[in-house]
Amino acid sequence: MIRKQFIPALGRATAPLVEAEFLTLYPALALALLWFGPRGALITGLAGVPMAVLARARAARADARPAAGDAAGRRPPRHLVTAALDRAFASQEETGKASACIVVGLDDPTQLVATYGQEACDRTMDRIGERIAAVLREHDIVGRIDRTRFAVALAPVRRMDLEAVIQIAGRIRAALGEPVSIDAMTVYVSASVGFCLTSRAPERTGPAVLEAADLAFEEARRNGPGGIRAYSTDIGRAALARDALRDQVEAALENGEIVAYFQPQLSTDTGDVAGFEALARWQHPSRGVLTPGDFLPAILAAGLAERLGEVILGQALSALRGWDRAGLRVPQVAVNFSSAELRNPNLAAKLKWELDRFDLAPERLTVEILESVMAETDNDVIVHNITALSRMGCNIDLDDFGTGHASLASIRRFSVGRIKIDRSYVTRVDSDMSQQRMVAAILSMAERLGIETLAEGVETIGEHAHLAQLGCSHVQGFVIARPMALNQTDDWLRTHRAKLDATSGVARRTG
Ligand code: C2E
Ligand code: CA
Ligand code: CA
Repeated sequence: MIRKQFIPALGRATAPLVEAEFLTLYPALALALLWFGPRGALITGLAGVPMAVLARARAARADARPAAGDAAGRRPPRHLVTAALDRAFASQEETGKASACIVVGLDDPTQLVATYGQEACDRTMDRIGERIAAVLREHDIVGRIDRTRFAVALAPVRRMDLEAVIQIAGRIRAALGEPVSIDAMTVYVSASVGFCLTSRAPERTGPAVLEAADLAFEEARRNGPGGIRAYSTDIGRAALARDALRDQVEAALENGEIVAYFQPQLSTDTGDVAGFEALARWQHPSRGVLTPGDFLPAILAAGLAERLGEVILGQALSALRGWDRAGLRVPQVAVNFSSAELRNPNLAAKLKWELDRFDLAPERLTVEILESVMAETDNDVIVHNITALSRMGCNIDLDDFGTGHASLASIRRFSVGRIKIDRSYVTRVDSDMSQQRMVAAILSMAERLGIETLAEGVETIGEHAHLAQLGCSHVQGFVIARPMALNQTDDWLRTHRAKLDATSGVARRTG
């Protein structure tokens, strides 16, 4: 009889619990497993995280022999997978059999945690582990390599070709397609799969195959959701290029190559400067000035969103002090905050400290939050942060309005002071009736809610004039000025002031 065993009681191990310990702690169960001819994939958990279980006690016992330098015999699941792959390489010549490594991971773990919570997410991973094991064969090994990913070492066979592994990957993905029930919740997961055949590995070692499968997984996820990718040398080369950019971007943040540029925002009533938006630029030593589209993805992928935020905020506040000292009137500066920064529970305290350090009142800082981020209102930390920032006195701008789905309730709840009408509504607003109707609708909604408006991406004099006529209170865009380096702002401000004085002089003379 073929049986697959799952022992959920072990799912809450607090210390790394490996098969050797399992055999010592639960000899009766282990014996039972052997007795019933257990089969199915070996699942091994991550230290300290819910651990699903094993079925192949015999193989587990063999594997639990202490590794060199690991007196306790404790080996992380990753090691069990790479060791199996190493064994496959060692026996390949003799047996003519080949293996492959598969990495399966969640497409959007952050979203899953935000929606269902960490505990439900961990339990979902347990269920996913069981499902993966259920579609594998007896000698395959599954290990949970981190909170959101599993790795599989397929047992060596003679015909381990691309097609065979694509089929297995497809089976795994299909098995994860059904929702998971956790308590009363139905959790929908989307997972991607990457794999590497031992015959295509960049090096003949277990860790190299796992790493290659992981790169293929990342590629699958980028092309996902629910992607499947095989490792190829192209994927390897692209990863090297990304790594290089990642390293460079980190250095660039620290050595001052990444700076804030400033784009003015004008009041349509008076023509006065209402503020500047700080926009990140990379003054690259060989490639010139790069815009966020070129480097923001690398920053986010490297987990450096917060660091970028600190750098830009510091420069924005320091710029305000500079304009104040030069006697140039700039009421406030706006800084873009990423969703990663808004998830930091310490954000409000950090901003307060920075404002104090520059001796600036909170109302001099505008926090720009994307509409799509504000729509994530079930994330408690984000809700808490936005509320705390507006209580502190910072202005809240709702960025890219019209592209997300923030509710009117969230606009009220977070004390949004101004909405930034996305460029897609602003383009050709002077000549296109449907654009005009949209903008007019947004403006009248804002007026009823008592909040201000700013149109972004204003590119022509016609658009500017029309927006002013429709009653939009602020404008920003290339027709006024492109984002500029800090050292150009003083001249720009003085020239702008002179132009305003000249036209108001003309107005007075002709009025
Ligand atoms: P965003 O916040 O919507 O910024 C406005 C973008 O529109 C900027 O692009 C700006 O240069 C561009 N823009 C301004 N006026 C015009 C115009 O008249 N026509 C056109 N076609 N474009 C105009 P940029 O600087 O490339 O920034 C792109 C995005 O990168 C920003 O979009 C923002 O989401 C993000 N970003 C920029 N700086 C930072 C930062 O310091 N932190 C974070 N988290 N994100 C940033
Ligand atoms: Ca913005
Ligand atoms: Ca925007």
